[in-house]
Amino acid sequence: MLIYDLDLPSLTKLLKEWKEPNFRAKQVWQGLYQHLYNSPDQFSNIPKSLREKMEEQLTFAPFKVATYQDSSDGFTRKTLFELPDKNLLEAVLMRYGDPADNPQITASAPNSESRGAKKRRTLCISTQAGCAMGCVFCATGQMGFKRHLSSGEIVAQVMYYARMLKDENESVTNIVFMGMGEPFHNYDNTMAAIDRLNDKDGYNFGARRFTISTVGLAPQIRRFADEKRQVNLAISLHEVDDAKRLEIMPVNKRYNIDEVIEACRYYVDQTSRRVTFEWALINGVNDSPEVAVKLAKRLKGLMCHVNAIPLNPTAGYSGQATDRQRAHIFKETLEQAGVPCTIRMRRGIDIAAGCGQLAGSISSL
Ligand code: SAH
Ligand code: SF4
Repeated sequence: MLIYDLDLPSLTKLLKEWKEPNFRAKQVWQGLYQHLYNSPDQFSNIPKSLREKMEEQLTFAPFKVATYQDSSDGFTRKTLFELPDKNLLEAVLMRYGDPADNPQITASAPNSESRGAKKRRTLCISTQAGCAMGCVFCATGQMGFKRHLSSGEIVAQVMYYARMLKDENESVTNIVFMGMGEPFHNYDNTMAAIDRLNDKDGYNFGARRFTISTVGLAPQIRRFADEKRQVNLAISLHEVDDAKRLEIMPVNKRYNIDEVIEACRYYVDQTSRRVTFEWALINGVNDSPEVAVKLAKRLKGLMCHVNAIPLNPTAGYSGQATDRQRAHIFKETLEQAGVPCTIRMRRGIDIAAGCGQLAGSISSL
């Protein structure tokens, strides 16, 4: 049993079954999530007999590091983890706001993330090995669905990087569910992972510092709205015309653009929170000023923001990235029509840190 799969009540129940005193669960919980211990022998405040039992009965390492890569500027680390069943998943650490972090992009397309002096340590984590949604431009979509990750396998990705940062006297500041997989297809495990990381007696990671990105599963967007979580929501829209969206995102057959946007309106009404639309700028496909005008019309009156990212080219898709100038025109057009837009240059482009690309390159070997 993976220890990160246990919430506090389950851990308490287990330790009770092991005839441990009541306070023990809290001790173990704090060891795991406050001290970031990842092996029983580090729990120096609990008896040796219990440490041995934990060693025997519980797993602390759900995966091993298959490989990792650092971007040439040193700000991005991408790790490929291998699960015991040989499935692969990725998690990426992006460092923003360091003194030397001065991407040229700020000159032509102001980017609030890199301009601010505030240091950010953003983790991009996975919720599934592979993905069933089949978006044609996405490396994870191209590899197909392998399996859902358990809540503990999601949590363990965060703990891995939290430990690495702790050694540098730093900590994770933001967590985005933008790695492999569709978080709303693995809804319960994703929310359980958020709850575990959010626990104030444990890792205590604030809800507002999470962002979930979804391909647009409308019923789950509504469910999420009803739960009134403080977690940020981003929707991968990428097209404003149904037929065109269907060409690149098969999910549009299940939930078309109207249904997605209606669900987003419901979310904004329920939570009073702004929603983000993600837009991968694909040269000559969805990046014209006309498209920007159409999009602005569609989003009118909705409390939202567009996050446009030039496409990260992948082996299985011929589309190319929009250039900087054209991206800037797209942004300006949207903003003139009343929709705020940020252009983000993908971090770690030299290490293929786009969703699923490292696993894709390894599994195609
Ligand atoms: N499944 C979720 C979250 C993971 S993908 C979703 O689709 O929203 C995170 C983001 O990366 C999504 O907006 C996705 O559309 C985008 N993306 C995937 N492949 C990309 C690529 N090759 N270039 C740019 N963005 C990409
Ligand atoms: Fe899945 Fe998101 Fe990739 Fe689409 S973009 S295939 S939903 S991971």
